[in-house]
Amino acid sequence: MSNTADLENRVVQYCQDLIRFDTTNFGNAKSNGEIKAAEYVGNILNELNIDYKIVGPDKQRCSVVAIIEGTDKKLPGVVLHGHLDVVPVEKEKWSKPAFEAIIDKNMIWGRGAVDMKNGNAMILASLYKLINNGWKPKRTISLIFFADEEAGGLFGSHYVTKNYPEYFENATEAIGEVGGFSHTLSNGVRLYLIETAQKGLAWMKLTAKGTAGHGSMTNNDNAINKISTAITNLSSHKFPITIKDSVRGLLEETAIAHGMIFDENDPEKVVALLGTLAKLVSATLSDTANPTMLTAGYKVNVIPGEATAYVDGRFLPGNSETFLKEIKAVVGKDISVEAETLDVALEAPFKSGIVESMVNALSIEDPAAKVVPYMLSGGTDAKAMSKFGIKGYGFTPLLLPNDLDFTSLFHGHDERIPISSLQFGARTMHRFIKDL
Ligand SMILES: [Zn+2]
Repeated sequence: MSNTADLENRVVQYCQDLIRFDTTNFGNAKSNGEIKAAEYVGNILNELNIDYKIVGPDKQRCSVVAIIEGTDKKLPGVVLHGHLDVVPVEKEKWSKPAFEAIIDKNMIWGRGAVDMKNGNAMILASLYKLINNGWKPKRTISLIFFADEEAGGLFGSHYVTKNYPEYFENATEAIGEVGGFSHTLSNGVRLYLIETAQKGLAWMKLTAKGTAGHGSMTNNDNAINKISTAITNLSSHKFPITIKDSVRGLLEETAIAHGMIFDENDPEKVVALLGTLAKLVSATLSDTANPTMLTAGYKVNVIPGEATAYVDGRFLPGNSETFLKEIKAVVGKDISVEAETLDVALEAPFKSGIVESMVNALSIEDPAAKVVPYMLSGGTDAKAMSKFGIKGYGFTPLLLPNDLDFTSLFHGHDERIPISSLQFGARTMHRFIKDL
């Protein structure tokens, strides 16, 4: 048996077991709860003699928190974090059951296979192997498996950071999801994207008021017309392009890989070379605002007095002040704009010791790896930890098959993970954690 066989078997087992706990998060306090998955993680930590606590606002919405003491107290701590919840499934759109973790075509199928029971399994399987071999980290590790990531973290990362700040004391970096995966360019160059930045979010409610009345009569103050105009103006608005360091790093390397020079004035030319990743990366060139919900009216012959639209706004690091002003200017003063949920944008340096450790681990497992930074268009629990000054990185390493549209699997139907990718991830994660 090779000396990684146990690690490779264990990561598959953990990933399957975790998928089988249906931890669907429906949002707004409606959720199946993470408790069963949290207890499962707790049992593994018990086996490893790691003290842990299961914490949460109630008996169902649970996170796991633990500390692994480092041997060098002069070094800052580091957070390793995952989340235990998953987004809902539309059963009828899946070709396999979503919570049985069936293995077919050398892949594990199920909700959470990429987001992110795979990552939890990698961390746990790596720690199992390391700790059973007598390893101790130099840096103190805060090991956190959050609840409620998929609904903004009110019952998870925000709850835990507010009520248990001692678990984040002295930590300078947090390592979590959505980074470290491979993306093979059409010319065969294999990039690995480490998440060093993420956009901020502003979930906005736009309201237009008008004069209610009979649908048969002239009405120049129709709330639906006003909200429609606002949405049309927003969709045709061009937010200014700003190339942040994390995005420049990715685009420069992509250009070099194609024998080109990256032109800041025409970033889309390089973005287009990124295939299935283009829709994500292009969203990190500027702020964005996508309308997602509309409400107005109740009867076909009644003009309503009010119409609302919800808009998912995402802004670049540095644009938190200007973003809402720009939205208000675009939709005009007749439309009220309320940011119902606001969260920060993050950017951490790519040139850092911890990224070097990621690069080393990836390069040993895949000598052809070309490691680059990137900015996530969405957000993760790293946002909640940023209030402690902790820098967030996304590193759930995966060597993926070239033909897999990885980003579409996040929250998508038939979510699945190739077993070889998961095992590559465990080996790489094991090397990375060993270095901490
Ligand atoms: Zn996730």
